[in-house]
Amino acid sequence: MNAEHIDLATRWRRHLHEIPGTGFDVAEAADFVARTCTDLGWKVTTGVGGSGVIASLTRGTSARTIALRADMDGLPIDEQTGAEYASKNPGAMHACGHDGHMAMVLGAASVLAEDSDFDGTVHLIFQPAEEPGTGAEAMIVDGLFDRFPTDEVYGLHNIPGLPEGEIHTRPGPIMASEDNFEIRISGRGGHASAPHFVIDPMIVGAEVVLALQTIVSRNADPLQAVVVSCTELITDGARNAIPDEVVIRGDVRTFTDGDSALVETRVQEIAAGIAAAHRAACDVTYTRVFRPTINDAECNAHAAAAARQAVGADKVNASCQPITASEDFAAYAREVPACFAFIGAGEIGKGGTVPLHSREFDFNDAILGAGIDFYTTLVAERLAEHSPEHRTEHLTEGK
Ligand SMILES: [Zn+2]
Ligand SMILES: [Zn+2]
Repeated sequence: MNAEHIDLATRWRRHLHEIPGTGFDVAEAADFVARTCTDLGWKVTTGVGGSGVIASLTRGTSARTIALRADMDGLPIDEQTGAEYASKNPGAMHACGHDGHMAMVLGAASVLAEDSDFDGTVHLIFQPAEEPGTGAEAMIVDGLFDRFPTDEVYGLHNIPGLPEGEIHTRPGPIMASEDNFEIRISGRGGHASAPHFVIDPMIVGAEVVLALQTIVSRNADPLQAVVVSCTELITDGARNAIPDEVVIRGDVRTFTDGDSALVETRVQEIAAGIAAAHRAACDVTYTRVFRPTINDAECNAHAAAAARQAVGADKVNASCQPITASEDFAAYAREVPACFAFIGAGEIGKGGTVPLHSREFDFNDAILGAGIDFYTTLVAERLAEHSPEHRTEHLTEGK
């Protein structure tokens, strides 16, 4: 990598920042990454899982493959960065830095296009709809790993609050699942002055909200992180009328499928039990939006080694704390060995760094080089011409 690669990646990042889409509606970004990779000599396939793009490059004869993943979608937010390359698309902006994620992978594409040393295939996965948590699954359902067989997948997310350019990752769970629930409690409304004629769903709802907090404090293993948050409480009552119905919505984060199943069971039991105690009826809908992101231990070791080489051992934490936010990368990690890592965007409040999903958020271009180096080092290491894995494979093939 040289200054020219970083300069190119910076220009690509800023152009991508100008043309955000949301969800699967990311045609402008998809066209841009497809054109850029084609121009660099990569073989490009578009329309995977809707608007997903795959770019592939093969060198040598090895059947080994590695995939690098970038997300392409922005958020439905009106930008207030004041940047000269601010969003040209009203109601959409890159507030999560996915423009930077694409630019780091494109930067790696430009470096790898000039590199004839690796032996195997690199796939670049540009996915839509990370924010709603449905893009990776759509690409997998569309045959992603059948059409583009992949041994390992890696991805990065920029994180404001982590020191600039540091790479943090961990084996095992690194990001949480996200489940949502809706509890509909039906009673019988009536005059606020005559509670003896009604079945008051407000009382049931209030008890349910408090009792749901016992799932974490009394049911989940205290050494396992679980979050249960009630986020909406909606009634059809009026100032002087007890409602017929109360709807409680909530959001759950866990790091294992077992904890997710435990919370679902307990939400149902608690809501049904309290409703029955008050002669009300209740209906619970429980949905899974994101699965927990689980890093493969070996891929984690490879990612940590590449990170140390790329940014220096003092800037790498290979056993960081997991975070309770969620990430669509989880879907790939359920299919093939994978490792997801965080790249520090710098201290919040310094140099204009603000939290993700803010109207003022702008990706920190100073970390593009670190991301590109991480990816290209990873490819060089995993697809090295004379790695022991290659020798084993070639010997096996020869038999
Ligand atoms: Zn986001
Ligand atoms: Zn994001």
